Amino acid sequence: MEVIAATHNKNKVREFREILEPLGYSVITAEEAGYFDEPEENGSTFGENSLIKARSIYAACRKPAIADDSGLVIDALNGEPGVYSARYGGLEKNEDRVALVLKKMENVPDENRTGRFVCAITFVSADGAEVTAEGSVEGFITRAVQGNNGFGYDPIFYSPELGKTFAQAGADEKNAVSHRGRALRLLSEKLKKGE
Ligand code: IMP
Repeated sequence: MEVIAATHNKNKVREFREILEPLGYSVITAEEAGYFDEPEENGSTFGENSLIKARSIYAACRKPAIADDSGLVIDALNGEPGVYSARYGGLEKNEDRVALVLKKMENVPDENRTGRFVCAITFVSADGAEVTAEGSVEGFITRAVQGNNGFGYDPIFYSPELGKTFAQAGADEKNAVSHRGRALRLLSEKLKKGE
C-alpha cells in the first residue's frame, strides 16, 4: 500500500522508506501524489505539528500519510528556537540562524549550554488511525561552527555520545543516536505491535 510523505527532503523520504518498506508500504512524496498544499504549522509542540501535516495529507488524499516535525531546543534560550527552528528570527539563511543562536549564547557558560534535538513523526493509516512517536538526543551548543556534514544546526550541536558535533559525524553515525533515528525506530516498533 502507498504512504504519502509530507516532505520534499530526499533524506527524510529515504529514512521513511527504510522503516516502512519492510512493513509492506511503498513511500511516495506529496508532490508525486499531486498534493502541493503547505498547511500552517501553528501547533505549539513538535507532535502537534507532525499531526497537522499528516492529517492534512490524509484528509485530501484518503491514503496513509507520514509527516515529521523537528527542531533544536536550547535550555539557556528558554526552549528556543524550538518549533520555530526552520524560521528562527525570521531569517531565510541557515548560516544566519546558526549565527543568531551563537550570538544569543555568547555569555552563556559551558555548563549551561545544554540542549536537545527533538523529532515527532505521525503516521496516519488507511482507516485514519494515528500513531505518533517522538525521539530526542541530548547535547551541548558549541561556541563556533565545527564540521561540514549534515544540515541546519548540526555544526553547533556537540554530541557527548559521539564525541563530536553532528556536522563532524557521518550519516550512519548520526542516525544511530539522532532524534529522527530514534523516533523512526520507535514508530517502527509501534506499527509492528499494531499500537
Ligand atoms: P523540519 O522538521 O524539516 O521543519 O526542520 C525544522 C528545522 O529544525 C530544520 O530546518 C533545522 O533547522 C532544524 N533541524 C531539525 N532536525 C535537524 C537535524 O537533524 N540537524 C540540524 N538541524 C535540524
